[in-house]
Amino acid sequence: PPGPLGTQRSLRLGVMGGTFDPVHHGHLVAASEVAARFDLDEVVFVPTGQPTFKQHQQVTPAEHRYLMTVIATASNPRFTVSRVDVDRGGLTYTVDTLRDLHRERPGAELFFITGADAIEQILRWKDVDELFRLAHFVAVTRPGHVLDLEGLPRDRVTMLEVPALSISSTGVRERASNGLPVWYLVPDGVVQYINKHGLYEGPGE
Ligand code: ATP
Ligand code: MG
Repeated sequence: PPGPLGTQRSLRLGVMGGTFDPVHHGHLVAASEVAARFDLDEVVFVPTGQPTFKQHQQVTPAEHRYLMTVIATASNPRFTVSRVDVDRGGLTYTVDTLRDLHRERPGAELFFITGADAIEQILRWKDVDELFRLAHFVAVTRPGHVLDLEGLPRDRVTMLEVPALSISSTGVRERASNGLPVWYLVPDGVVQYINKHGLYEGPGE
């Protein structure tokens, strides 16, 4: 994108990593708010392969999660979806995600978007130093979670308050498996996709 005096400003790319099982309006509002506040050109949603922190839990096949994310983001010209984690397969480590995106988008400035609960695990993430070299981290508020940035480098992690949506994928899956409506918690197309493929039916995990 053009910068002042004809200089070329580097592309500001948000990265929204998640299991997205399923993607919901909390994810979309967080991405949209960070995009506006940080003047991002694009936010790329990256559904995980097998999430590192959910190894002992049943996760919906990646292809379904990927397609629901495509459906949910399709109408926003600044939202895209990347298959890097799905195609790499195996456990997803954020450092690999950022390395791949860095390679695919040379020169882009990366902003990794993460909720209050996920940032807490950051110190346990693989290759923390490289993570902070590869991206700026934006930690967004999330109902039910205290945002604690202690011990994280202030110049690489910024906190942002976003409109509070008390929605989680776990809650959506539980509602669906109990026959309760998930309309308006997830985009309409995602409700229809869930019904079409019979996802989250029967007793939950
Ligand atoms: P699950 O209940 O299965 O863990 P989830 O709702 O936490 O699902 P994830 O795919 O785990 O969704 O989250 C992806 C990212 O989005 C994480 O950084 C998470 O903190 C953030 N996030 C999820 N829901 C919200 C929300 N309602 N508000 C703000 N951030 C959110
Ligand atoms: Mg989660």
